[in-house]
This record gives sequence, C-alpha cells and structure tokens, in this order.
Amino acid sequence: METDGSTLIQPIVENQLDDGNHERFSHIVLEGFTPKGSEELIPVGNSVVEGMINGTAVKALCGKLWVPGRDPGKYPICPTCIEVAESKGWKIPGR
Ligand SMILES: [Zn+2]
Repeated sequence: METDGSTLIQPIVENQLDDGNHERFSHIVLEGFTPKGSEELIPVGNSVVEGMINGTAVKALCGKLWVPGRDPGKYPICPTCIEVAESKGWKIPGR
C-alpha cells in the first residue's frame, strides 16, 4: 500500500481474557493516514475510540480482530505488528 505521506498508527492493548496465561501485547491498529501537505486524517477502518465506545471490533496489522478495551501502553508491542509496520515503512508510535 502506497500512502505517499506520513502515516498515523496507534498501538493499543489487546484486552481479551483468554485462558489466563496467554501472552499479552499491544497491537498496532492503522486508523488512517495523513497525505503529504494535508492535515486531514483519511480513515481506513474502525477507529479505536469508536470500538471502545460502541464495542465494534478493530483489526490490528497482524490481522488480529478484537474489541478494544482500556489500559493502553502497558504491554510490549506485538512483534508481528512491528514487522508489518516496518515492512511498509510506517512510523511506530513511541519508538
Ligand atoms: Zn499484533
């Protein structure tokens, strides 16, 4: 995917309670991008905030689908998400 400009991605936490010892990661969700020379964000999917409010699922770069919850940023970022972001030349927030 060529976005030709800066890309906004947002890492958020996977909040599912699976079997209790499932490893937890912050996954990166691509919410949209801002084309060069523009301030406007072009959305590409469900936003994280929307998901928290409405309970709609968002999709991480690694393909994981889940309904976002609270407490972002406490877990390491999912390595698969990082790999996908880096392969596309996207900037990873907080790195
Ligand atoms: Zn991931």
